[in-house]
Amino acid sequence: MRKGGVLIGFFLLFSLLIGVSQDSQKTYLLKGAGVSLPNNSEDEFPIPLSCMNKITFEVRVTNTVKDCVATELSLGATEIKHGLNYPTKINSQLMVRFAAARAAAEKDGQRIYIASGFRTLERQKYLFATAVKKYGSEAEAAKWVAPPYVSHHPWGLAIDVNYPDEPIGAGWLEINGAKFGLCRVYENEWWHFEPVIAPGGTCPPLLADATLTSQLQPAPVK
Ligand SMILES: [Zn+2]
Repeated sequence: MRKGGVLIGFFLLFSLLIGVSQDSQKTYLLKGAGVSLPNNSEDEFPIPLSCMNKITFEVRVTNTVKDCVATELSLGATEIKHGLNYPTKINSQLMVRFAAARAAAEKDGQRIYIASGFRTLERQKYLFATAVKKYGSEAEAAKWVAPPYVSHHPWGLAIDVNYPDEPIGAGWLEINGAKFGLCRVYENEWWHFEPVIAPGGTCPPLLADATLTSQLQPAPVK
């Protein structure tokens, strides 16, 4: 009985050793074939993340694994998307992006300010109705004022900068905004900016006007 037990023990140990050597051989072969083995891909391909110093407003690029530190505010690592429900104020991360951009503009001797940011759906309806009266039809009005359910102002995700009388500062933002994830969106609205890209990304080509908004992002749910 005892001898049998020892034999079984040896057999198990032997199987284990064979198993291990097969595994290490497999690993070796995979490596030799240039196949990358599963590991923590976030460590290997970190997603850039921009952080603004709360005091100096300087932007530092780190990554989503390391994250921003306590003395910083995050500009985010992607475009800013709206949630399921309409908010009651402007998106706070959009404000961080704008604060960082404003500080950088100041260093360049330019002034940027938000002339109009968050609007309630009611306000946007009123503005659109006024535009319909002014331009004679909904189709024509939509080129100048986005219809209520199309506009990103009620989502807190659009800002009108330096409107109507300071286009030079807005031009600075058009040139430099991508670093902060802010883009001009329409050819006919030099003042209208949205956080449609990750900070440090590339802004998409301008759309002719607000009637083409659905091509920029999925249309907001009603
Ligand atoms: Zn606007």
